[in-house]
Amino acid sequence: METPSNSKNISRRTFNKQVSKTLGTAALLGTMPLACTTAASIQKEKLGIALVGLGGYSSILAKSLQETKHCALTGLVTGTPSKEKTWGEKYNVPEKNIYNYENFDEIANNPDIDIVYVVLPNSMHADFSIRAAKAGKHVICEKPMAINVKECEEIIAACKANNVKLGMGYRMHSEPYTQEIKRFAKERTFGKPLYVNSGAAYVMRGADQWRLKKELAGGGALLNMGVYAIQCAIYATGEDPIAISAQEFKTKPDFHKEVDETITMQMLFPSGCVANLMTSHNARKNDLYTTYENGWARLAPAHNYGPIKGETSEGVMNFPVVNQQAEQMDDFSKHILNGAPNLCPGEMGLRDMQIVEQVYASIAQGGKRLDLDLVKF
Ligand code: NAD
Repeated sequence: METPSNSKNISRRTFNKQVSKTLGTAALLGTMPLACTTAASIQKEKLGIALVGLGGYSSILAKSLQETKHCALTGLVTGTPSKEKTWGEKYNVPEKNIYNYENFDEIANNPDIDIVYVVLPNSMHADFSIRAAKAGKHVICEKPMAINVKECEEIIAACKANNVKLGMGYRMHSEPYTQEIKRFAKERTFGKPLYVNSGAAYVMRGADQWRLKKELAGGGALLNMGVYAIQCAIYATGEDPIAISAQEFKTKPDFHKEVDETITMQMLFPSGCVANLMTSHNARKNDLYTTYENGWARLAPAHNYGPIKGETSEGVMNFPVVNQQAEQMDDFSKHILNGAPNLCPGEMGLRDMQIVEQVYASIAQGGKRLDLDLVKF
């Protein structure tokens, strides 16, 4: 049979047909990423995901990976030897696909693994995301992306340098109620947004945990939950904020010695919309309320694992309950496989960290209003 390599006269059309059979149309459209043009990746219908850090959230992701259509759990990375056996058996992951933190870089030679999903304490995200990128694997990084702007930039640079895709673990973007709120903003369904109120808070218990340690968590409620409130304000307006002011209160200072506990913050958006947001590790809040020129919309709860509930000035919202984590990992896989949009690119994590740093800067200056100069993407 004539192949592109042995024929001088092959027409562009024949060539396209032949390549298309092998690579799929995404390659012809220029959407197939370089890292995905290995034989192993091309033939796959489902991409292989390795979870790094087998704690509470990875348990939820592993379960969700039993429901995904475009990816599957094929690898595990853990620092706890006993989990190699228990998780390996439970999820049918062969020994050759199980790594520890020391031999993790050998994952580069494993064609079963296409995506590395970093689900470790926040201060370890940058190291493992960068190592995964250097190993030629696509990366999903949990929120918060890292513990400062510099680390976020380094992750993005490593993914670019190694030609791999980078996505954030912001699951709400794959959730239908949230997608509807985003649509209201984009299409100005109720006119311009005027005011946003959102809170993301829970009462933390158990003093012996990494989330209370500055070295591992990088920050407190703001990094853990506050990013949800910040995200809410941004997708409810469809705009990036231009100025911020913030305050911190500690109601249990002995418990929250090293990191922030309760933060309130106000944001101004280019259209004139104002947001009032809060986050806490010693209060409860889980909602998003937006008023627009011609109506309002409310999600409550707004950012737990579901079901999410919603209402607008026109009536109750009614969308299917989805497995957010499964949808999120499938959406990222579709981005790699066929060039679907990357719903939560690394720059989104960087932007949120730029906001976080200005929140802390405002608090340090007594709540001073500070301008925001955020990455565009
Ligand atoms: P966790 O404490 O349950 O698990 C952390 C894992 O990291 C454990 O397996 C632990 O053994 C491992 N680890 C490695 N080095 C460690 C160290 N020095 N100290 C402590 N643990 C260490 O935490 P989690 O709830 O799974 O959170 C992990 C990441 O996932 C965090 O970045 C968190 O923000 C994120 N997360 C996201 C969501 C979401 O809805 N997107 C939900 C929960 C957690």
